[in-house]
Order: sequence, then C-alpha cells, then structure tokens
Amino acid sequence: MKKIEYIRIKRILENYFKYDKYIDEQFIYEMIEIIVKSRKFNSMINNVNIFNRCQEEGISGFYSPIDKEINIVLPDKNIELFDYNTTILHILLHELEHVGQHKKCIESKNDTLETSLLSTCFKPNNYNEMIKKRLQNNDINKDEYFSVIEKLKFYEMYSKIINECYELLPSERQAEINSFSYMIELLKNIKNVQYEDKIEKIKLNYLVRKVMGYKKQDDKVLSPTYELYRIILDFIKQPQLLKKYYETFDLASRNMSLEERLYYGLNISCDEYDKQQLEIGKLLIK
Ligand SMILES: [Zn+2]
Repeated sequence: MKKIEYIRIKRILENYFKYDKYIDEQFIYEMIEIIVKSRKFNSMINNVNIFNRCQEEGISGFYSPIDKEINIVLPDKNIELFDYNTTILHILLHELEHVGQHKKCIESKNDTLETSLLSTCFKPNNYNEMIKKRLQNNDINKDEYFSVIEKLKFYEMYSKIINECYELLPSERQAEINSFSYMIELLKNIKNVQYEDKIEKIKLNYLVRKVMGYKKQDDKVLSPTYELYRIILDFIKQPQLLKKYYETFDLASRNMSLEERLYYGLNISCDEYDKQQLEIGKLLIK
C-alpha cells in the first residue's frame, strides 16, 4: 500500500462519512484516478462504467483486461449509509486488485509463483473473450474458422469450470484478502460509535477470506490452490502433471510464513487451520 495513495483516499472517504454522504460517481472516479496514478495503471484502464443495480442483476463489479474496462454496479440505496459506502469501497478495491494482477502478469518477464498462479486463473477467460472479439469483428479467415470454433467451445467450457471455482482461485482470494485489509486501514479513524460493530464485521470478513477455499477433512486440510490444480488438470486431461505441481507448491511453501501460505492458498496444518477458525469464532460472538 502506497502511503500517499492511502492518505488521499482516506481523506476523501472520511469527508463522506463526516457529512453522512452516500458515495457517488465523483468519489468513484476520484478514487480510481488516485489509484491509477499511484499504481501506474494508465495502460490498463480505458473506461470506467457505472451501472445501477437493476441493470446488471447479480454482478457487483467486473474488470475486462481485453476491453480495459472497469464496470461497477452500485448497490441499492435502501441500505444504511455505512453499508452502502463500504460495499462500493470493497467493489472498487477488489476490481482494482484485479487490474494490478493483470498488470503483473503482463509485465513479469519470468514467471514467479504469484504470476503463474494468476495466469492460470486468467488464461481461459482471456482466450474466451479474445476469440469472441475476433468472431464479432469478422477477424477470422475461412481456413481457421473451424479450429477457432473448436477452441471457443473448449475455452467456454474451461472458463465455466474456472468461474465455478471462485473460492479456490488465487486471483479472487488475493483480491478479497487485499481489499478487506486495505478497507480496515481506511476505516481506522472513522470514530463513530454506531459503526463499531460494522467495522468488526469487516474484520471478520477479512479473516474469513483468508481461509476461503480451505476445507478440513478428517485429520487433513485441503488447500484451495492444490484443489484448483487438481480440477484444472482433470479438465484438460493431464492428471499426470499433478504430482509435479504439488511438488513445486510444497517446495515454494517451505520457507513461507502462515500468512503467505494463506495468501497463496498453499498447505497449512490442522493446528494452523483450527487457530484461524478460533479467531473467526472470537469475532463472531463479540
Ligand atoms: Zn474478482
């Protein structure tokens, strides 16, 4: 988190809370501008579209790296001011995390653990979008038409599998972890007694996101990244590669702290899992 970016966003956010103002388009554009500048996202975003809830049922935000567009769907205004403002804040921070993830993948010369995990999440949707765009623009010659259609079928299916694995995806898990932790920092100085419980709930969300996709089975913990690769390699009919991937993950996680392993969705012990659940439990009964 860059200090100047953080201070500037915090300042405008605190003003909205101070005057009991619902976040509006001006806030959204201003916040995006601050982040674009500080994280050097200029080449990643051409457009920001803001919709009302009724137009885009179900989706709250979406970033397309192909169109370089951020789409934000505003929540219904019939909720309390704090909930409304933090919902939008969360959507914005989450989508801007995705922008940064795509940027990292584009710019990294050598694959790191982070960029290779992220690329795995993005590849099917990116291909899918790209092929559709070429079809729309009639940018496909006769000879390759059938192979392109076959590819499209494959990538549509592949994207569907990936999208169904939301809780296992490193891209989504990391966007959630980072956006909630940023939000906790931003809300630190909002001193309003009536918001105290709600801020605790955001802390709870943060803890829950850290263990998102982990599952305890008997005396073992299944990790989201391992599980995701099992599903993908099964789909692309390459299960023999699983062992190699697991070995790479084991090796990478050997020197990682618990926080880092949670961030990448790598293995944690039963004890570590139980401790995380205990923390969550403590906030739940507060
Ligand atoms: Zn997302």
